[in-house]
Amino acid sequence: MLDVGYLHITSPIAVISSPKPSASDRTAGLLLLEGFDLDDVSLTEMEACLDTLGRHGKMGAVGICASCSGDEPLLGAARLAARKLCLLELRMSKIRDPIRLLELIPLLKRCGVILSLRIRPEDLSDVLLQKILETELDILHLDLRGLNGAGPRMVKRAADKRGPAVMALADVGEFDDAKKLLSMGADVVSMRGADPEFAEWLSKAMVEYDALSGWCNAPKHICAGGDLRGLAYCCPPVKNCPVHGALKKAGITPDEFVEKKLSLAAGTLLEPGEGTCFGSLVWCCKISKPCYLRDAALAKIGLSGKKYMELKKRLAEDLLRKTS
Ligand code: SF4
Ligand code: SF4
Repeated sequence: MLDVGYLHITSPIAVISSPKPSASDRTAGLLLLEGFDLDDVSLTEMEACLDTLGRHGKMGAVGICASCSGDEPLLGAARLAARKLCLLELRMSKIRDPIRLLELIPLLKRCGVILSLRIRPEDLSDVLLQKILETELDILHLDLRGLNGAGPRMVKRAADKRGPAVMALADVGEFDDAKKLLSMGADVVSMRGADPEFAEWLSKAMVEYDALSGWCNAPKHICAGGDLRGLAYCCPPVKNCPVHGALKKAGITPDEFVEKKLSLAAGTLLEPGEGTCFGSLVWCCKISKPCYLRDAALAKIGLSGKKYMELKKRLAEDLLRKTS
């Protein structure tokens, strides 16, 4: 579902656990083990934890959250994580100094590790975010706990930069809490201290939802506050609407947008669209927006709603990749 370097994450739900996770925790798309303060814990102990997990048959992706006052043990952890094909996560609350962080990221990345940074939004100034984007950080893990309604906005702020993958740590109590964060651009939603059975259910439910819908973290329309991936549903930019602000943010002119959409649709099942507003499905809305014109066009070419959304997902990736 999400590949970040050697890390293959099969469900967008991550669980943060102690070094001794429960059987339910081990079913998460990504299992993040924390508690490795390398001032107190040796690399040998860390490796033993990973080996124990392997013996329990953990099949999904695994990460280790490590901290240390010195750089050398962290470099050792990075080499170990790379060798075990695990994620290594740093926590800004443990590093504290942004200068040290910006020096550490390239050093750790040189070990070949997939690297994540967990950070609170209040610690992520625009300047630091910009500097992080210039590094090879793989995952930006936003700790949104306690932010209530502001969390999705924070996710969109980071996702629209189109830098590292975005993981959102939040107070998730039901399926829709996770779906809201995913629909604003989070690639993964993480939970800490959640009921293990609920986490296991949510992880499986998200995989099923993806299989049924074709795009489990599909964005909202741009005019409904969606992130830049929502450009995949946008009409030609001929009227005064929020698409212009989104295009500006994406660094693409309205003419380029029209050209890109048409060329990316050419020869695909998004190209036709007889009877729709703009004559091609490439300009059509999200499948959840009821529209008998689009549905008739889909039926005519035998394209299911799920397949339509998969094509829109690929279109969003290509539109944004080609503008970066
Ligand atoms: S182009 Fe259409 S879908 Fe996009 S923001 Fe404007 S009205 Fe909404
Ligand atoms: S035909 Fe329907 S789905 Fe397509 S752009 Fe018009 S309103 Fe949206």
